[in-house]
Amino acid sequence: METPTVLSLDGQIVPWEQGTVHVTSAAFKYGASVFEGLRGYWNQADQQLYVFRAPEHLHRLEYSQRFHRFDTIYDAATVSSHMVDLLRAMDCRSNVHIVTTAYLKGGANPGVTGPVGLAITAVERAAPDWVKNGVSAQVSSWMRVPDQAMPMRVKTTANYNNGRLAALQATADGYDAPLMLNARGKLSEGPGMCFIMIRDGKAVMPSITNDILESITRETIIKILREDMSIEVIERDIDRSELVAAEEAFFCGTAWEVTPITSIDRLTIGNGQPGPLTRQLQKHYFGICDGSIAKHAEWRLPIHDHRAR
Ligand code: PMP
Repeated sequence: METPTVLSLDGQIVPWEQGTVHVTSAAFKYGASVFEGLRGYWNQADQQLYVFRAPEHLHRLEYSQRFHRFDTIYDAATVSSHMVDLLRAMDCRSNVHIVTTAYLKGGANPGVTGPVGLAITAVERAAPDWVKNGVSAQVSSWMRVPDQAMPMRVKTTANYNNGRLAALQATADGYDAPLMLNARGKLSEGPGMCFIMIRDGKAVMPSITNDILESITRETIIKILREDMSIEVIERDIDRSELVAAEEAFFCGTAWEVTPITSIDRLTIGNGQPGPLTRQLQKHYFGICDGSIAKHAEWRLPIHDHRAR
């Protein structure tokens, strides 16, 4: 994976090295920034890069900025246009991970207001082994920060230190990824991904009031499960003790896509291999993302196309 040569800063394409913020900025000092991670999928047959569910991500970026009372707001249409400019300037022809960040540039103390910057990067991203082989998960002793303290629904950079502690613990203890419980002791999510399990043939997942990000992938998967795979979906509280009863389990998210979970706390899920329904879902999900399945064209933003804007 090569470092890109350019990025987008306040709508201008600049050399990669210029993507800096000052050490006194509120973004640096307090994590006063909000962001979105998006995926672009290359389709060889179409000679096209499709960005998955761009409007939904960029509307959430708008929501996060409004929530933080930023003085000026980068609206979805503007960010989309800058993102398309960058991907075209880079002539992206492979799978990419795109990050759009709106941040407080100034050093206001304690970072309440100030000028807002926008940075967009796109980095090539190969398919990780974990999507194929699955991951081991650990129920973390770190609690998910509750909505009354730092809402996970808002994609604030600073939030990610909570999941980071859990991820560090999981790694130190020999697991691939953590699963976090919330202040009520109910299952919440992983550091950057949501949790879904298959129990009695139904897909069960924490509802959106369990201190999770309202994941766009989760919403996509709910639709696919219900409409394309005729699987019943239940959003509710999940107890820790239920995890052992799951036939299958997986993480989902823009970066984690659909990643099977093969064990939790060293107890195997199913037969310890990625489950059949998870496999079927992965195939369908990736097909929709890269456009090899024609359905849901409205979820794919074609980049190398003048109709894209
Ligand atoms: N939860 C958290 C905390 C995340 O950061 C992410 C990644 N954005 C997700 C869940 C998955 O959300 P999405 O499907 O919208 O990427």
